[in-house]
Amino acid sequence: MHLSSLCLLNENDKVLTTPNSFLATSNSILFAQAKPIFVDICDDGNIDLDLCIKMLEKDSSIKALYGVSFSGNMINQDKLKKIRETFNIKILEDNAHSLGASFNHIKSGSCENSDISIFSFHPVKHITSGEGGAITTNSKEIYDKLISLRSHGIIKTNDMKPWEYEMQRLGFNYRLSDIQCALGISQLKKIDEFIARRIEIAKKYDKAFEGTIIKPLYRDNPNSSYHLYVVRINFTKLKITREDIFNYLKNKKINIQIHYMPINKQPYYKSLGYGNENTKVMDKYYEECFSIPLYPSLKNEEVEYIIENLSAYINKC
Ligand SMILES: *Cc1c(COP(=O)(O)O)cnc(C)c1O
Repeated sequence: MHLSSLCLLNENDKVLTTPNSFLATSNSILFAQAKPIFVDICDDGNIDLDLCIKMLEKDSSIKALYGVSFSGNMINQDKLKKIRETFNIKILEDNAHSLGASFNHIKSGSCENSDISIFSFHPVKHITSGEGGAITTNSKEIYDKLISLRSHGIIKTNDMKPWEYEMQRLGFNYRLSDIQCALGISQLKKIDEFIARRIEIAKKYDKAFEGTIIKPLYRDNPNSSYHLYVVRINFTKLKITREDIFNYLKNKKINIQIHYMPINKQPYYKSLGYGNENTKVMDKYYEECFSIPLYPSLKNEEVEYIIENLSAYINKC
C-alpha cells in the first residue's frame, strides 16, 4: 500500500477513500503526504461511488480514488469504469478481502478499471505468506517504479555493465523473503478450494438467518470471495446490546468481530482534523454490524454450533 501510494500520489493530493476499511488503506495515503477524504459507504459496506462522482464533479482538484472491495464483494466495476472515463484521476483497488472474487466476469486484481490493485497475505486473509502482499497493475511504468522502490530504489538495465546498478530514487527493502514466497505459492494452489468452502459456509448462514432480525450484509453472492460474513442487527428496538452478544458468544468460545471502526474517528485521524465528516450510512452501519467466524477449516459442526448459540441468544431477548 505504501509503495502503491508513492507511485500514484503526489504531496497534498486529495484522495477519496472509505472509512470502512482497515487502517492500512488511508494510512498509505498519509505516508505519501497526501490527503484522504472520507466518503460515506453504501449498504453493502463499499464506498458510495455515486457520491464520489458528485464530489469529483464539484472538485476538480481531487486526484485519486481508493476503494475497498469490502468483505470480498468487489466494488461496482460499471461505476468505476464510468469514473475512469469521465475524470482524470488515479484509481487504486484495495482487494485485500477479494482475492478470487469477480464482478461480471471482471476478476479481482485484473485492474480493468484501476491503475493498481493490492492484495494482503496476512494470516487472516484468503491465502497467507506469513506477512506481506502483492500488487497488480497493467502499467509498465508503475511496475518498473514499484520494482525499484521495493529494493532500495535500485534499477538495472540491459545497457549497463554487468556489475552496474543505479539508484534513481529513495527506496526501501520491502522484499518478500524466499521462505514466505514458498508458503504463498503453495497456498495459492488451494485458493479455489478455500473460496468454495467459504461460500458453502456463507450459504449455511444465509439460510439460518432468513426471516430473523439478523440481516446479512448481502445474501447468496457467488461472486464474492467471502472474506467476511457480516451481519447487521438493529439494536434500537432490542433490550440487548451488541456488547451483550459479543460477551455471551465469547463465553461460548465464539469470537465475533467488528469490521470496521470508522477510520476517520480514530484518535490519530482526529488529531489531523478528521472525524466530523457526514458519513451517516457508515455511522449507522458501525452501530449494527458484526462479523461471524468464517474460514475454510471451520467444520460443519462448528458452523451449527455458532448458528445455534447466536439464534438461541437472540430468541431469548
Ligand atoms: C489486511 C488489509 C490490508 C493490508 O494489511 P497488511 O497488514 O498490510 O497486510 C489492507 N486493506 C484491507 C482492507 C485489509 O483488510
